[in-house]
Amino acid sequence: MTSQTLLTARLIEIFSAIQGEGLNVGTRQLFIRFALCDLRCHFCDSTHTWSVPKECRVEQTPGQRDFETYPNPVPGSLLLQWVERQNQLGLHDSLTLTGGEPLLHAPFLVEFLPQLRQSAKLPVYLETGGHRPEQLAMVLPYLDSVGMDIKLPSVSGEDRWQAHSEFLQLCHNASVEIFVKVIVDRNTDPAELEQAAKLVADVSPKIPVFLQPATPVEASKQPVVSPSPEQILDWQTLMKRALCSVRVVPQTHKMIGQL
Ligand code: SF4
Repeated sequence: MTSQTLLTARLIEIFSAIQGEGLNVGTRQLFIRFALCDLRCHFCDSTHTWSVPKECRVEQTPGQRDFETYPNPVPGSLLLQWVERQNQLGLHDSLTLTGGEPLLHAPFLVEFLPQLRQSAKLPVYLETGGHRPEQLAMVLPYLDSVGMDIKLPSVSGEDRWQAHSEFLQLCHNASVEIFVKVIVDRNTDPAELEQAAKLVADVSPKIPVFLQPATPVEASKQPVVSPSPEQILDWQTLMKRALCSVRVVPQTHKMIGQL
């Protein structure tokens, strides 16, 4: 039995869609959404990813939402076939590993990504909470770009400053394309934004930072309220004292009915 047949992934879904966040907003991406997350952000819009479903759903034709379901876990060889079927020539700008937290699947990714890169020939982009540097180090050689979060305690309820710092430094050292996403809401503590700006500037002030106003989530354990226009302007001003690029971009995919 080859190592390829031993690999299995615990997935939520695979589909083709328009990226709605961060540096790659507007591009067409092929998404592999992994199950499981070890964080519990107040604003989470993906709580269905926190556990492993019995079945994952797989789009058959890019963008057609003609999903079929398959039992978890999924053999890596089968996942490769699904990617190949979706990977129409010239359609996708990159392949996105998302979740949940994809780095909880680092041992799988270490074996899967070299095969994926060989067959799909698409840039591989990782969306992550940015709090697992040890697992990042395992998969970094197979990544082209990374979008990491900095979780503000006042907004997310998570406190991961040290891990974020190590994580960002690893990305910078590896010369992958990197950007940082900071979700803000009405309760954001500006002192935490200053701390986040310093954390990024200590690695490189040229790393792009995206302030993403939280999208209200009805089912969250505490109400998520978007920041006011005045708050957003103040916070961008504050962060630009330390950083070259601070952009404000909401979740655009939700405005145009994307997944
Ligand atoms: S890291 Fe992402 S998936 Fe995990 S709880 Fe936070 S928002 Fe949800």
